[in-house]
Amino acid sequence: MRLVYRHAGAPPGWDEALVLGAVQRAALAWSACGVPAEVISEAAASLGPPATLVWVQWSDAGSRGNFGLADLGGRSLSLGPAAFRLLATRNPRHPAFQTLQMVISHEMGHFFGLMAHSRRCIDVMSYYDNGRGEVCSTRDGGAHQAVPEYRALLPTACDIARCRAVNPPR
Ligand SMILES: [Zn+2]
Repeated sequence: MRLVYRHAGAPPGWDEALVLGAVQRAALAWSACGVPAEVISEAAASLGPPATLVWVQWSDAGSRGNFGLADLGGRSLSLGPAAFRLLATRNPRHPAFQTLQMVISHEMGHFFGLMAHSRRCIDVMSYYDNGRGEVCSTRDGGAHQAVPEYRALLPTACDIARCRAVNPPR
């Protein structure tokens, strides 16, 4: 899988290298499931066949008001500038980078073939903030804490095991 990060439209205060680093960390972590993944520059992307790329971009239309949304058909992973701006306004002390890393890891997991969400809150593929009233479970049975982020920032061993199951070695 080849991913391209496009920084245009990022909310103020987000450094390109910082976000790119988060994309690269997520791609490296998910590649442990047996699917090679690399993050390439926009310049390099313009040279390759577009059908094989996944664009990581900032777009309120693409994210539909969420922090992030994966469009598998459109091969885009959209991050929501408005959602992150709102987070910074409402809760300036919240470590927003953690949210960014988790969101990138989560949405990228859908591109690695994980359609179903995990019911374990700790997994990066957990669904606890999907807004449909579904509740995940924590190890001690208590309610998860959205702040600080309860979910792992990168795929857990359990996420990787599920990813391996849907990507059998060829
Ligand atoms: Zn999801």
